[in-house]
Amino acid sequence: MVETADAIIVGAGVQGASLAFHLAERGMRPLVLERATVAAGATGRSSGLVRMHYDVEAEARLAWRSHAYFCDWAQRVGGESGFTVVGFLQMVPPDELPALRANTEMQQRIGIRTALVDADEVRRILPGIEIEDDQVAAFEPQSGYADPTQTTGSLMAAAVARGARLIQGCTVSGVRTNGSRVVGVSTSRGPFDAPIVVDAAGAWAPGLAATVGLELPIKVWRHDVAYVQRPPDVPRHVAFIDFENAFYARPEGESLTLVALEDGNPITSDPDAPVDAAAVGFIEKAAERVVRRLPAFARAGLHSAHSGQDGITPDQHPIIGPAGPDGFWLHCGFSGTGFKTAPAMGASLAQLITDGPSANDDLAIYRLSRFASGEVIVGEHPYADIWR
Ligand SMILES: Cc1cc2nc3c(=O)[nH]c(=O)nc-3n(C[C@H](O)[C@H](O)[C@H](O)COP(=O)(O)OP(=O)(O)OC[C@H]3O[C@@H](n4cnc5c(N)ncnc54)[C@H](O)[C@@H]3O)c2cc1C
Repeated sequence: MVETADAIIVGAGVQGASLAFHLAERGMRPLVLERATVAAGATGRSSGLVRMHYDVEAEARLAWRSHAYFCDWAQRVGGESGFTVVGFLQMVPPDELPALRANTEMQQRIGIRTALVDADEVRRILPGIEIEDDQVAAFEPQSGYADPTQTTGSLMAAAVARGARLIQGCTVSGVRTNGSRVVGVSTSRGPFDAPIVVDAAGAWAPGLAATVGLELPIKVWRHDVAYVQRPPDVPRHVAFIDFENAFYARPEGESLTLVALEDGNPITSDPDAPVDAAAVGFIEKAAERVVRRLPAFARAGLHSAHSGQDGITPDQHPIIGPAGPDGFWLHCGFSGTGFKTAPAMGASLAQLITDGPSANDDLAIYRLSRFASGEVIVGEHPYADIWR
């Protein structure tokens, strides 16, 4: 007999797991099908930054709602997320200072605890930093980073405790339809039936969508990450993004610092490319950037490096919502920034699936049709693309 679920979610990354958790909280019995293991894709490679500074108000709101989960994880979800509050600094080049001011004001209006800080304050927050006297940054004292694998594992466990089912080692080869309606999926473990199928397959999402005739504007974004051993006299520091030097960093535990670059991230079409090793030359480039800002890191040592891949769209924002046959939903294309927003995005999509569209649909901007109609997402006070 073919197993039947209320909804099938393809992919047990952080987004699929969050959706499963929220659907199960709403009384549905979702089935999550994962070709490898929980967090085997982008999620398990993610840098896990949790911050709210965005130039798109809807995204800042979703990050802020998600932040509330991270602050109260044990009560809200259960288990661990590894959320560590170290504070977060957003630095921009001089020509983006007006946007920094306007975006910080927008975030304050939403209720986010953030403020502009001058160069002296930045030096106090991040000792040893090289910064011009007239530079200003935005500071979020309540931000930091979390552990993406723990976060996803606890979302999945909480979903299962509420009636969801997870099958790992199960590759979905196609979506089955009857006329204009979804009826289930075909998999390496045989067929499963459901009136709803959600494509949360990360960088592999276009392949699945193609089985219902949808062509998604999603490519594969590749991103290298290094962990360096801090010199013993450099203490744990804040997380920061430095648009001017196109890199970001955060501490990892007591003695390591994670560093990654915003430029030079290849765009490919191969979601299966191996991700164990960073590209040749990446370490040297990352070291040069971090030393430019924090000269003490000239005495840091390399600990390890790896790569990761995520689906990326032309405007570097996800695609979320119904598309194609009735019952088919997209939840993909998170473009290298989809960890921190997963709790709120899963909650909003679960509401949309169970209750239908409402006046306060905060996911409407992410509809697939925006690419055809030319309504791509641009910040109200835009910065340059984060990935260059
Ligand atoms: C190196 C790196 C650093 C990042 N840093 C940050 C950060 O600091 N902050 C932030 O917010 N975001 C960050 N991101 C982005 C964020 O991690 C991703 O946007 C997010 O994890 C995407 O989650 P997902 O569930 O959509 O996809 P994934 O985690 O990729 O999950 C998709 C899952 O689907 C499974 N799957 C695929 N095809 C099939 C199939 N046919 N059948 C069954 N299962 C299938 C895969 O095995 C995979 O487990 C980073 C990403 C990378 C790669």
